[in-house]
Amino acid sequence: HVDGERAEVPQAGVPGLRLLKRVGVVDPESLDDYRATGGYAALRTALLLGPSGVIREVTDAKLTGRGGAAFPTGRKWDATARQPVRPHYLVCNADESEPGTFKDRLLMEGDPFAVIESMTIAGFAAGCSRGYLYLRGEYPRALHLLRNAISKARERNFLGENIMGHEGFSFDIEIRRGAGAYICGEETAIFNSIEGFRGEPRSKPPFPVEQGLFGKPTVVNNVETLVNVPVILTEGCEAYTRIGTEGSTGSKLFCLSGNVSRPGVYEVPFGTTLGELLDLAGGVPPGRELRAVLLGGAAGGFVRPDELDLPLTLEDARAAGTTLGSGVVLVLDDTADLGSFLLRIAAFFRDESCGQCVPCRIGTVRQEEALHRLVGKRPLSTSAQDLQLLREVGQVMRGSSICGLGQTAWNAIESALDRLGYAEEAAS
Ligand code: NAD
Ligand code: SF4
Repeated sequence: HVDGERAEVPQAGVPGLRLLKRVGVVDPESLDDYRATGGYAALRTALLLGPSGVIREVTDAKLTGRGGAAFPTGRKWDATARQPVRPHYLVCNADESEPGTFKDRLLMEGDPFAVIESMTIAGFAAGCSRGYLYLRGEYPRALHLLRNAISKARERNFLGENIMGHEGFSFDIEIRRGAGAYICGEETAIFNSIEGFRGEPRSKPPFPVEQGLFGKPTVVNNVETLVNVPVILTEGCEAYTRIGTEGSTGSKLFCLSGNVSRPGVYEVPFGTTLGELLDLAGGVPPGRELRAVLLGGAAGGFVRPDELDLPLTLEDARAAGTTLGSGVVLVLDDTADLGSFLLRIAAFFRDESCGQCVPCRIGTVRQEEALHRLVGKRPLSTSAQDLQLLREVGQVMRGSSICGLGQTAWNAIESALDRLGYAEEAAS
């Protein structure tokens, strides 16, 4: 670590956990508890390192975005920091709405000061004067705790002018609440929402690092991504990269739900196999057989019971034709009705499409209709025609929709048809 200037940090919480170490251990309303367990040591280190030193640490730690897309965080911060236009903004994307995703909620409710400290460090590194925390509207407890954390941080000069006595570093945070639209978690739709417009995505490029909120250079990071930053700065990037694999460093939060004995949020090093993770959660309920696991969320893909040795890394998931996405591990056992499950996903995308572009607006409706006929084996349908229609509509949505919603609305259904053999099942 640079010049050996890392602050001594009292060890806190549950051994082996980095991101969740304070969750359930400290009082989330107490800044004193937070500080007694190492809180704000990372910001002190950041101020010593300077913005470029912080970006170097985060880049060398190979931190990637935990919202789902896994873009390198250091590259994002560096690209924003280099923009001569001022001001720069930081947006913390806390509009966690992916079905089966509830990890950011746990962080915000269990360790809210860590979110605020992490945002302050990111703001310092990328030259931002203001941060917006865009919070999912359905998270009232997180709202209360984050408001409390911001107000206490301001009182103690961890936010505001000349933070921690550092001449010239001023940064403050405002919370904006979503109003229940899934699409408002898309980063450019967040900008529109904050600016007072309809929450519709913008075309990219230009990327937010060049033209984001109010047209200014903007860093957008997911909550979990940000909460990794104090870990990197306190442990050092070398120690950080010793956890996980070469291509996927550090640990990852996974949200286990569905037919699993102990659902919840689990923190494991990247590289843990899917089978090991399921074992931690007690596997499927007694007497049942595993049917499939939906990995990565509604836009992800299915993993079969014979593939549980899949290491949970970005590279292995990609090679297996799926994604870790936002950490969704949704378990289906042999009692699950796959057809209804797929219909629920199709209805979700149809419902949440913002309607701005034709492929997604119409495609998600046609997809649901065709799937409905296929699953219900309606007399109108010949299964082969509906399967072909599904594939054609899916390809058009993937290739020509403006944003990730339309581009991925067919992923899980395609995966069920091809990887779980649902095409044959539906046609029989
Ligand atoms: P994306 O790949 O378009 O972009 C990822 C990030 O990298 C963005 O911040 C983008 O601005 C940035 N980026 C990409 N290329 C860049 C470049 N050349 N220069 C600078 N910055 C660049 O993905 P996305 O549409 O932002 O996100 C899709 C992901 O979101 C999916 O993987 C999905 O799993 C996830 N998702 C998560 C939730 C949730 O609740 N956590 C909800 C919906 C979707
Ligand atoms: Fe809206 Fe769908 Fe187009 Fe995205 S892909 S802009 S959600 S209509």
